[in-house]
Amino acid sequence: VKAAGKGDYDFFRPELYARLRARFELEQALMQALEQNQFVLHYQPRVDTLSGEMASMEALVRWIHPERGLVSPAEFIPIAENTGLILRLGDMVMEKACAQIAAWKAMQLPELPVSINVSAKQFHAGKLHQKLSDCLRKYNVRADLLEVEITESSMMGEDNAIMEELAAIRALGIKLLVDDFGTGYSSLSQLQRLDMDILKIDRVFTNELDKSAEGKIFFKAIVSMAHALDMTVVAEGVESNAQLALLRELNCDEIQGYFISRPVPAEQIPALMQKLLLL
Ligand code: C2E
Ligand code: CA
Ligand code: CA
Ligand code: CA
Repeated sequence: VKAAGKGDYDFFRPELYARLRARFELEQALMQALEQNQFVLHYQPRVDTLSGEMASMEALVRWIHPERGLVSPAEFIPIAENTGLILRLGDMVMEKACAQIAAWKAMQLPELPVSINVSAKQFHAGKLHQKLSDCLRKYNVRADLLEVEITESSMMGEDNAIMEELAAIRALGIKLLVDDFGTGYSSLSQLQRLDMDILKIDRVFTNELDKSAEGKIFFKAIVSMAHALDMTVVAEGVESNAQLALLRELNCDEIQGYFISRPVPAEQIPALMQKLLLL
């Protein structure tokens, strides 16, 4: 067999077959996992840069695979998105997050918001605001305790369906967060029109912060722009004290990252809620 080159359409390469097969198997396993409830949410604190207190936390899904153990969402979310399973997975995340907020409340812990990640597919499916509103009612959770993270790239363009859905969600009192900001090409006027509440700057920029002058300039510009639009700015992927010091200097409102805490199981959250996470 000759090596595959440009224009060489060899569909029966064994590696391609193996990849398709692995993917198919993962898809089947994912379907089964949904039926057998093999998912849990971990939570990562978002901390107020000035007070050092937890401001909110992000719910991040984990798959507890019977043989492989904890599987990262980076591995299964893309497959879930391509197969439509993301809709069921998304409903499940929403449900678990609301149930958790209610459980913490019942334990008389401070009532802090939880953000959930929502994929563009969930917006396109329609009626997302209805699902969110039903879920809040079911668990008797206040709308201001739920935040929705949507990546900058999935709200690009002038997609009316997404814009209407965002407005309907916001009308419920749920806060909207732009995730991975800086990696897409949304315009200032677009963010203003969409009335986004929180801007989370992608961790590649946090990484660049203490490495180059440009990195700091970029961050500074984003923070002042976001503040002018009345948005809260969050830096994600904060891993060092040096980054934190710069973020404080730049008036970044909140930080999230391994420097404070990795995403942890719900059981570990009460202890984190009750202490200062930054000095
Ligand atoms: P994301 O929304 O950008 O989430 C942040 C990711 O960065 C998480 O990875 C988190 O563990 C990781 N992270 C947090 N702090 C640090 C840090 O200081 N350094 C580094 N290097 N990484 C940090 P995770 O949990 O593996 O999630 C990966 C992605 O999977 C998420 O990226 C999100 O796009 C997706 N995802 C996770 N849960 C859900 C979900 O429930 N629904 C949907 N649609 N997507 C989800
Ligand atoms: Ca996120
Ligand atoms: Ca992010
Ligand atoms: Ca990211």
